[in-house]
Amino acid sequence: MSNEDPQEIVEEKPEAPSFSVVYSCMRCGTPVTQTELSRLPEIKCICGFRVFSKLRPPVVKSLKAI
Ligand SMILES: [Zn+2]
Repeated sequence: MSNEDPQEIVEEKPEAPSFSVVYSCMRCGTPVTQTELSRLPEIKCICGFRVFSKLRPPVVKSLKAI
């Protein structure tokens, strides 16, 4: 009799990089993510300014593994 152990198949799902858009306040330059803005009742910076410029998402640098 062969006793076969059930093999657990673990699917490793790498976390999808969030390409959340980052905005920057035109007055004080505070970076705010789109997620943070969506939580707010109104799009407004902490300084009170409401004009934002779109920033590029941070570039993820990959290091070479030896
Ligand atoms: Zn601001």
